[in-house]
Amino acid sequence: MENTRALRTWLNEMELAHPLVIGGPCSAETEEQVLKIAHELKDSDVNYFRAGIWKPRTRPGMFEGVGAIGLKWLQKVKAETGMKTCTEVANAAHVKLALEHDVDLLWIGARSTVSPFIMQEIADALEGTDKIVLVKNPVNPDLALWLGGIERLYKAGIKNLGAIHRGFSTYEKSKYRNIPEWQLAIEFQNRFPDLPLICDPSHITGNRDMVFDVSQTALDLNFDGLMIESHFDPENAWSDVAQQVTPTSLIQMMEDLKIRKETETDSGYRESLNNLRAQINVVDAQLIEMMGKRMKVADKIGALKKEKNVAVLQSRRWNEILGNMILEGESKGLSEEFVLKMFKAIHQESINHQEKIIKNS
Ligand code: PEP
Ligand code: MN
Repeated sequence: MENTRALRTWLNEMELAHPLVIGGPCSAETEEQVLKIAHELKDSDVNYFRAGIWKPRTRPGMFEGVGAIGLKWLQKVKAETGMKTCTEVANAAHVKLALEHDVDLLWIGARSTVSPFIMQEIADALEGTDKIVLVKNPVNPDLALWLGGIERLYKAGIKNLGAIHRGFSTYEKSKYRNIPEWQLAIEFQNRFPDLPLICDPSHITGNRDMVFDVSQTALDLNFDGLMIESHFDPENAWSDVAQQVTPTSLIQMMEDLKIRKETETDSGYRESLNNLRAQINVVDAQLIEMMGKRMKVADKIGALKKEKNVAVLQSRRWNEILGNMILEGESKGLSEEFVLKMFKAIHQESINHQEKIIKNS
């Protein structure tokens, strides 16, 4: 996207507190449930009240949302509590209804962002709106697909745009429902520093006990806001039972979270930070240098294997390296997960190098 400078301004112009906090149930269930949660959150740091009206469920037969009637309940929330409202839209009909009912913020769910057809349909339906529109990352870790969706909205003249990081689905076993892949969110921020980025710790964790920690990480990484699912009786919620927190714990969480300032002008702090950053730059350069060296050695091994007609992949040797490195890593305070990931990547690059040498015969 050529210039996103205009985008951050909506956050400032609306004089919203930092961080922007979106709270409310995963799904609107009944009018009473919606209003009860809204009233409990009314005097908190929650700036926007969320409730899913149309629910994209992975399997049929689950609760798929109350539909358009829920929009009337959101109107009541606004009238009774003064809170702004938001909901998910997934097609042109949803957009039309949400706009007619004056929903203040619309978000596009992870299962919609994956489809350029749906994104275009939504963009066309929203054309020129001054509502805030937030795009969740696609289910799969594909930065281009995420940005492509945002671009479609930007091209439709929607200026109050932002993104929601809700983690990525993975086949690998993980403690998260959707792994955060923070480096992807950081890359997103680096490439589009003026596009507001909100974190959704509820869908990342899938577990209310982890929501606080992930929220804190997001704030430490300078995210602009949080979207947290909240229900007065999470155990009996009609969707996402394990991850919703009560309004009371959401309010407590907001008190306990350390909100980082975006920048700090104090010169001592600046100096120390610059110094530490410079040290990191040096170490990073060394890492690249060492990797280059390692690959040169791998090339030599490749040439040797080619000469003797030996297979590139030698699993026993690889497992030996991995075992040693996990132990070494542990003694340096590195987690097994990290060492495994790092060496898998290094090993893959070595194999690529050796394949190249063998194929160039
Ligand atoms: C939601 O916010 O309730 C939701 C369905 O989220 P996602 O699109 O991230 O799965
Ligand atoms: Mn949910």
